[in-house]
Amino acid sequence: MSSFWSNEFWRITGIVFVAWLVGLLLGFPLWGIIAGFVAYLILLSNRYQKFATWMRGSLTEPDDFDGIFDDLAFRMFRIRSRSSKRKKRLSDLLRRWQETSSALPDAAVVLDKDGSIVRFNPAASSILGLKSSDQGQYIGNFIRNPRFIHYLLAGDYAEHLEIASPLDITRVLNIRMTPYGKDQRLMLVGDVTHIQRLMTMRRDFIGNVSHELRTPLTVIMGYLETMKDCEDCDRAALKEYIDRIEAPAQRMKSLVEDLLLLSRLDTGAPAGLSDSSVINIASLLKNILTEAEQLSHGAHTITLEADSDIRLRGIEKEIYSGFNNLVTNAIRYTPEGGEIKIEWLAYGDSARFCVRDNGPGIAHQHLPRLTERFYRVDVGRSRSSGGTGLGLAIVKQVLRRHDAELHIESNPGQGSEFCCFFPQARLVHDENDATVKAG
Ligand code: ADP
Repeated sequence: MSSFWSNEFWRITGIVFVAWLVGLLLGFPLWGIIAGFVAYLILLSNRYQKFATWMRGSLTEPDDFDGIFDDLAFRMFRIRSRSSKRKKRLSDLLRRWQETSSALPDAAVVLDKDGSIVRFNPAASSILGLKSSDQGQYIGNFIRNPRFIHYLLAGDYAEHLEIASPLDITRVLNIRMTPYGKDQRLMLVGDVTHIQRLMTMRRDFIGNVSHELRTPLTVIMGYLETMKDCEDCDRAALKEYIDRIEAPAQRMKSLVEDLLLLSRLDTGAPAGLSDSSVINIASLLKNILTEAEQLSHGAHTITLEADSDIRLRGIEKEIYSGFNNLVTNAIRYTPEGGEIKIEWLAYGDSARFCVRDNGPGIAHQHLPRLTERFYRVDVGRSRSSGGTGLGLAIVKQVLRRHDAELHIESNPGQGSEFCCFFPQARLVHDENDATVKAG
């Protein structure tokens, strides 16, 4: 017999015995026993009331209920506190899932063994268009792609899956699935459109570089073959072949140089203000003008207007390269007799470098793509004038590294204007205000 029952037994026996003794003294022993039982029942009912009130209340340490209810209350308290701890653990787990999954940029969806949605994070609403009322629905109703359904049913989640977004077919989603909890699966969905575009760009870029190198290389190989087979060639004939090799070799050299420069610009740290020097743009432009005049051979009228008061914080070699590309383009694309204006002047609080020409101009549809690598309006014309198709891409990168922007305005038959806008933070003003005019 447990101590609980033995205690209660002694309690009832004690009460009935005392009542019997009193009844015996008074000459009514039987009534004494009955009165003892009644007294025990009243006591029991009082204790039950107290116990019932405690049970109805919130989870607190049980009072001293004395006897049978004491033990009962203690056991109930243990059961209730264990279940309340379990509930708390569950709600903590749920809260932690909500916190963690809300911070995820990817959609996270928990699916049960049949593929129905158990819960999902906020990103799942924007990436997959899920609403809270969709809980319990089959995920295949939202991602109707047959490849996804096959992936879901096959249950082999070693690989991940890439499919078009169900909300926008131009976007690419990457889906990974992993076992989760008891008979559940966690589905992570990320938007990888950007990475896909980069991969395509990289593929195109490698294809373009190979193509650009192959053409001059084929010409060089052709002349080398001819020279090898030409046993009775005199010096003059050999020299002619060598001269013909020079142009494609030069083209390959320019291409490799531009590629190396672009790769340095792509991977180098931005031209932060602390690692920049103060560039005297007016004197840098005088050098560019001299080179431009040599390239033009007097075929163009080239003028320069530069405010020598405005200097620029930046990397001189890069700025030289970017500005020189714009001036060289103007000369290469403007026919003989054309005019080219180079300008470095204040523009409100900022400053701008502009190159204007009255050449053939560019049709509107080409303007947004001009700074893409290897994009040309007229491939033949670009190549015949020594272009690599990378000039404006270099300009764009140089400007990006100097917090500047390129604006292009052009109309067919009305010339072109390429302007680079530099923010105030990049400018340094010299006391000796002066404007350099040349040309
Ligand atoms: P490219 O080496 O072919 O000149 P760029 O990147 O420098 O490459 O220029 C891209 C294209 O932009 C050129 O092929 C040309 O069609 C066009 N372009 C650039 N500058 C001018 C200009 N000043 N006038 C007309 N077209 C231009």
